[in-house]
Amino acid sequence: MRSKLVHKSHAAIKAHLDFLVNSSNDSIIGTDLKRRITSWNPAAEKLYGYTEQEVLGKNVDIIVPSQKKGEIIKLFEILARHRVVSNYETERLTKDKRLVQVSITISPIKDRKGETIGFSTITRDISRHMQMEKRLQLFAKALEAADDGIQIVGLDGKILFSNKSVERIYGFPPKELQGKSVNDMNKDPLFAEKIILPTLRKKGYWSGEIEVKHKNGSTFSIWLTASVIKHYGKPIALVGGIRDITKKKKLEELKAEFLSTAAHELKTPLTTLKLISESHLRKIKKYGMDQMKISEFNLINTELNRLNLLINDILDDSRIETQKLHMLFECTDLNKLILGVIKKMQIIYKHHKITYNNKKIKMQVIADPMRIEQVLINLISNAAKYSPIFSEIQVYVKQEEDGKTEVSVKDSGGGIPEEQRDLIFQRFYQIDRNSTKGFGLGLYITQEIIKGHRGKLWVDANKPKGSIFHFTLQTI
Ligand code: ADP
Repeated sequence: MRSKLVHKSHAAIKAHLDFLVNSSNDSIIGTDLKRRITSWNPAAEKLYGYTEQEVLGKNVDIIVPSQKKGEIIKLFEILARHRVVSNYETERLTKDKRLVQVSITISPIKDRKGETIGFSTITRDISRHMQMEKRLQLFAKALEAADDGIQIVGLDGKILFSNKSVERIYGFPPKELQGKSVNDMNKDPLFAEKIILPTLRKKGYWSGEIEVKHKNGSTFSIWLTASVIKHYGKPIALVGGIRDITKKKKLEELKAEFLSTAAHELKTPLTTLKLISESHLRKIKKYGMDQMKISEFNLINTELNRLNLLINDILDDSRIETQKLHMLFECTDLNKLILGVIKKMQIIYKHHKITYNNKKIKMQVIADPMRIEQVLINLISNAAKYSPIFSEIQVYVKQEEDGKTEVSVKDSGGGIPEEQRDLIFQRFYQIDRNSTKGFGLGLYITQEIIKGHRGKLWVDANKPKGSIFHFTLQTI
């Protein structure tokens, strides 16, 4: 009775072991002392491509690549010393002659008397793991070698990683920065809280200029591009690309200084030229000279006007920089102002159709009429510059309930990519750096003028093509 029970439990144990071997994800191979294969589980079939029938009784060397044949001695040495080989990393050969990276664990199989009768080898395919490791090493090296500073910051604002360039930029060795709060690196410790984080939460990225502290106590400007790192859609950290823009800013200052001096010098002769050309045009028209001369003088006037606008932009830019852009507010009939601008602009941009939705209703706003005219000229000429000829430019106004009047200029041109919609209002920013259509100052000045009016300026996409610029003014 007892022996029957024991016999039964042996069978049960064997069945259980067979089940484990057959359902294992790791390949398990049994060999005898002559290294002939005695068992071969389904995972081994999957890894090496041989079926059990194909390999039973064959020497296990069929899966050992020629360059690894010598390692058998080493493996036996390890077995003799430690009785088991664990997690030994090597290569094996598949039926279709592919090399796979594996980690093997070998242990002896003993009979009832404790004599070794063979070996069991558990093999884990680590090719993917090795590839991932190589890629990780590559990423780590690329991060270290990057010329821009790169920082990874936890959601709690503590620095997790900084590359070498961060040290060049801030003077702090990366190790010293680990665990430090990013707020302590910014000149305004609340800047991240107030400006960066809300945008990151809303849009997933933020880029802009920011004043930071150097280890030596000085402050300087960097350009930061920050984005949220997500894992399965859940934010896990933030990554920031940091560029030192001290030199760039200095160059920009020199450029602006030079431009402003040049603009001042050009203004006087240009005004004289404009006066002469306009007086000639009047005379030609009065005495009925030929049409060709009239159109030539019209062209001269148009070009002089464009030059004048450009020079005014440069002068305004230097006024903004020196905080001398003054406004003269008055009660302004917005409708009349818009109609006047459209009339002028339609003459310059003959090949566009400029329309307006509100020709009759009077609309009074508090504004500097010259400056709002300048804003409209900027927006309409951009709409014309960046949209195909013969397309329509729509100007429309809307009175809001909160005491604001909203003016919009809509075109059907190439539009502005979403990630650049905040950037185009920066000084000298141009989507196409090689553009010969302007200087990148128009929207910057426009924004300063609207800010001076306590209004808002922003851009939306026009569906299916183009952009809509909006600004607001105080209604009376
Ligand atoms: P610019 O003198 O170069 O036109 P702005 O400051 O007026 O300078 O505009 C900045 C940049 O914004 C332009 O260079 C252009 O790339 C882009 N932009 C402005 N308005 C439009 C528009 N209506 N459609 C497409 N791109 C525009």
